[in-house]
Amino acid sequence: MTIPRIEFRHISKTFTGVTQTIPALKDVSFSVMTGEFVTITGTSGSGKSTIFNLCAGLIEPDEGEILIDGEKPASLAGMTGYMPQRDLLLPWRSVLRNVLLPMEIQDVSREESRKKALEMLPYFGLETFENEYPSALSGGMRQRAALMRTWLTGCSTLLLDEPFGALDALTRKELQNWLLNVWQEFGRTVLFITHDIEEAVYLADRVIVLSARPGKVKRELTVNLPRPRHQKMIAEPEFGNLVRELLDELGVSS
Ligand code: ADP
Ligand code: MG
Repeated sequence: MTIPRIEFRHISKTFTGVTQTIPALKDVSFSVMTGEFVTITGTSGSGKSTIFNLCAGLIEPDEGEILIDGEKPASLAGMTGYMPQRDLLLPWRSVLRNVLLPMEIQDVSREESRKKALEMLPYFGLETFENEYPSALSGGMRQRAALMRTWLTGCSTLLLDEPFGALDALTRKELQNWLLNVWQEFGRTVLFITHDIEEAVYLADRVIVLSARPGKVKRELTVNLPRPRHQKMIAEPEFGNLVRELLDELGVSS
């Protein structure tokens, strides 16, 4: 049996507020295999971002354990490249100096990190923009720069929290295709949060659906659509059936 890259085992997490306790996750178990592209979807407040915060070691679960490659690490910090929801580029740094940040923190030599970043710029469609500041970039380019920064952590597993959430529909589709291309070219494990069901199906090998608060895994759905994916697949009956199944699961009648 193959050992999963990430395994959540019976994870529960409750937050204590000023006047109330909020059960965010209840007995959540799932796994992600090496090289897989898994999307997590669910309504707002269903605990999606909490899953990433746990995975990145920023918060601790109340119950359960998280395994990486079959083992419980002493610390989860730094084991995954995390792009949080509303991740922002630093406006006072150029694109190049923004994407160099993770390597700066890891104390990679200036020369080596610059070489790596310059090599990757074309894959992120940012060549010739390395000396510009974030304010000079379009929304789509800014998200690609933020993704590139996460990519350059060098982590084999990436946690991407609604990276395309604030983009217009066309730019969003463009970036979906672009992300799949980079993923296929370089093969990393991706966990991707989205509340957009079409996006969840289009990108994924597998979709994990969370129930409303407290989040539980309500459904896991394998997407057997061929790769590479094309936007015209969205019009195919098989795609529509998967989307409908997920909408039914979330209690949204179509
Ligand atoms: P999602 O990403 O699916 O929208 P979150 O994981 O951000 O949901 O939040 C799940 C629930 O937990 C929400 O009700 C939220 O208010 C609560 N929550 C998340 N983080 C905290 C925190 N640090 N303190 C208190 N409550 C929190
Ligand atoms: Mg969230």
